Amino acid sequence: MNNKLCQSCGMPITNEEQLGTNKDRSNNIDYCKYCYLNGEFIDKVTMEELIEKCSKYGDQAGMNEEEMKEHCRKLFPTLKRWNCTCTNECASGYNPNCTCENPECHCSLQQ
Ligand SMILES: [Zn+2]
Ligand SMILES: [Zn+2]
Ligand SMILES: [Zn+2]
Repeated sequence: MNNKLCQSCGMPITNEEQLGTNKDRSNNIDYCKYCYLNGEFIDKVTMEELIEKCSKYGDQAGMNEEEMKEHCRKLFPTLKRWNCTCTNECASGYNPNCTCENPECHCSLQQ
């Protein structure tokens, strides 16, 4: 398995054991099990709240709290969970042209 990052918290996912799970209990390849279980995000947090939380684990990445926050502030907006590319057209709820991959945006799905 390639070294990839959880698309929510940025944690490197190095083996399948660390993968989150979909509703049907299959592995979700985008998120780690600390973020995503049974098809849902465990913590319904904002990006800033998650940055706060992750900054406490800086020592695991060899960074102090401030460095870890800096790191997360740069990294998180590039991750799927936080990277919303929705446009004004999405405001009505359905936009077939939307290319946003954020799992919390459902505008490209016909209701
Ligand atoms: Zn995660
Ligand atoms: Zn979006
Ligand atoms: Zn959209």
